[in-house]
Amino acid sequence: MARLVMKFGGTSVANIERIRNVARHVKREIEAGNQVAVVVSAMAGKTNELVAWCRETSSLYDSREYDAIVASGEQVTSGLLAIALQEMGVPARSWQGWQLPIATDEAHGSARILSVNGDEIVKGFARGEVAVIAGFQGIHEATGRIATLGRGGSDTSAVAVAAGIKADRCDIYTDVDGVYTTDPRIVPKARRLDKIAFEEMLEMASLGAKVLQVRSVEMAMVHKVRTFVRSSFTDPDAPELKTAGDPPGTLICDEEEIVESEVVTGIAFARDEAQVSIRHVPDKPGIAANVFVPLADANINVDMIVQNISAEGFTDITFTVPSTDFERAKAALAGVREEIGYGSVEGATDVVKISIIGIGMRSHAGVAARAFKALSERGINIRAISTSEIKISVLIDAAYTELAVRTLHSVYGLDA
Ligand code: ADP
Ligand code: ASP
Ligand code: MG
Repeated sequence: MARLVMKFGGTSVANIERIRNVARHVKREIEAGNQVAVVVSAMAGKTNELVAWCRETSSLYDSREYDAIVASGEQVTSGLLAIALQEMGVPARSWQGWQLPIATDEAHGSARILSVNGDEIVKGFARGEVAVIAGFQGIHEATGRIATLGRGGSDTSAVAVAAGIKADRCDIYTDVDGVYTTDPRIVPKARRLDKIAFEEMLEMASLGAKVLQVRSVEMAMVHKVRTFVRSSFTDPDAPELKTAGDPPGTLICDEEEIVESEVVTGIAFARDEAQVSIRHVPDKPGIAANVFVPLADANINVDMIVQNISAEGFTDITFTVPSTDFERAKAALAGVREEIGYGSVEGATDVVKISIIGIGMRSHAGVAARAFKALSERGINIRAISTSEIKISVLIDAAYTELAVRTLHSVYGLDA
């Protein structure tokens, strides 16, 4: 017997038929003698619709009410799945975040989970009952208000519940059968990885691979939750899923568990970056602080930074910000124009950040050079570069996204 958390994303619960299919996956695990807690997302598209309604009502909406609204999608699917399970003879009940409770901080719209009380879930196991938990939501206990965890947050709910009830495994069921070397929807030659190290998955997720929410990977890493990404679109009763062998999927695990690893494990891309360039900035001590402190004060995350060597006492500074913060960044800089005495601010939102990720980079030289050469051979201009121990990111024109991802995927020998 094992204790499992099974998480199902939006496309997996998109309609009643799919919810029934999910119930069959759950039933299979119950019949195998396991204890199961399920975490569900809202039906595909539902959260977008709810967010749009908030924005339509007011552009400056109260984030506590936003959370009350957007958390409702998961309330519906948790109830529906509990009914579908009961219908199949599997005892089940739904749980909202506040009922367990899943306690969060007060950052409405992107709250962090502080603790999960797993007592009720475990008591339910003793009664032979499946707990169906609404993902994406918790409660800020001091105010008693519902809080949501940021887009894609059901993954984090699932891993947090798994840690909270000391589950043997957290299975993330989605519309792909694992984590691939890059988004399989962009690169048909992408390969499924059997295993990927926590650190690499953290980079992949934070650099754009939305298959897992970044915080879910952080949480899995800290609490050592064995997290397995797999498909919900298989036949729940397929004989191979009932045998002891490993089903197709990707295990997120410690680096030590990975025997063979390539220098590059995967390629990620993020379209939600914007480039800001400040021209003709007087090059003197303190200038970087003058530029970046106002941005930090405005809570804007700056990512890639490029500064030219100065010519005649002036320089250019280029950096990236999330595209949702682009206008605010320009406004913050406009406010310090006099003080800094720069020439102009220019920007672009039609850019993409492409990242090459792999722990093998720690011990191999020349990885970046190969990317630069391959991109230049395709005539793709690099606007900015940033690197860390296990990743290299380049900023390019968005129009070249697919070409660049496919090119780099081939160059590092990742094609299937
Ligand atoms: P869910 O609704 O189940 O949470 P998501 O849409 O959030 O599913 O995440 C799954 C999607 O992530 C896939 O459909 C795929 O297009 C995308 N994706 C991006 N990068 C990768 C990758 N490296 N491996 C697998 N899927 C990826
Ligand atoms: N329903 C939420 C969203 O669309 C949470 C999730 O799907 O993980 O962002
Ligand atoms: Mg998701």
